Amino acid sequence: MKHQIVIVYRLTIFLVCLTVILLAINLLKKEDEKIKKEKLEKEEFTEWEEKNEIEYKANETIRVKFSKTGEVVAMDMNDYLRGVVPSEMPPSYNIEALKSQALVARTYTYRKIAEHGEGSDADICDSSAHCQAFYPKEKLFEIWRNRGFTDDMIKEYWSKVNEAVVSTQNQIITYNNEPIKAFFHASSPIKTESVDQIWGGVSIPYLQAVENVEAEDYANRTSEVWLTYDELLNKFLESGYDVCLDDIKQICVCDYTTSGRVKNIQIGNTKVSAEKMRTLFSLKSTMFNITKDEKNVCFHVTGYGHGIGMSQVGANYLASQNKKYDEIIKYYYTGVEIKTLKN
Ligand SMILES: [Zn+2]
Repeated sequence: MKHQIVIVYRLTIFLVCLTVILLAINLLKKEDEKIKKEKLEKEEFTEWEEKNEIEYKANETIRVKFSKTGEVVAMDMNDYLRGVVPSEMPPSYNIEALKSQALVARTYTYRKIAEHGEGSDADICDSSAHCQAFYPKEKLFEIWRNRGFTDDMIKEYWSKVNEAVVSTQNQIITYNNEPIKAFFHASSPIKTESVDQIWGGVSIPYLQAVENVEAEDYANRTSEVWLTYDELLNKFLESGYDVCLDDIKQICVCDYTTSGRVKNIQIGNTKVSAEKMRTLFSLKSTMFNITKDEKNVCFHVTGYGHGIGMSQVGANYLASQNKKYDEIIKYYYTGVEIKTLKN
């Protein structure tokens, strides 16, 4: 009897061990298959990227400073621009709009190089506040993956960006044979703005207000900012304005720019520029009207950005109407030419 118990006991141990071993083998197999599958996908992706490189032509070298680390990296101009274009415009936009953005980015870059705006050790930096936004390809792909873009979308978008940059190789926007100040903004659904109306100074012939049409489904076409009178008052006081609650309750538009944006607002005897209002209260643009109730002020805003130069949403709309990138550029920048630089 005791002997039988021992046999059953050993048999059970054996079966348990066998099951564990089989499970482990199965698990290893699955893991191996997963690794193989990932490797294959990676290879396919690399293969596609290399194929994509065939179209790619080397260009001049540019020194890009990474503003967070201070590191300066020398890279090919096209590599740089392929990192700028999708950082400044959604890569889902029409290819002709992306080509327009490529020209804007390249023009901006050559102006910056000529101005030595980055000192002697670099030509340009990756800060959108100082120069123009730039992400290296690997970082862009990571950002896109985090946004939920599939590999197929990433391939499609990167191909478009590559086409936008390479097909417009060496082309810049000029006025009087000089690269222009290629300002652009996200959206101005009715009219763009003349530069002097926003930032003062002299009028620039190619930065004039033009009529503009944009797709109505653009998310930031209109927006609202609600503030209580107290919130408004506190912000103005913090910013050094000498105003009181009664002044705040009388807030109104003082005057408009020639294209119909707010130029200044009036609070009691104090005038505040609409550009200042835009930064103080995070208004998306200076095209707004003000409504008031007992406790609150509401800014009803149209468009997104300063309104000068090319409207990106407008460029995408024109592209959807079969306009080519050169037509888009010449629409937003009055009287300019597109020139090809010699290597
Ligand atoms: Zn910079």
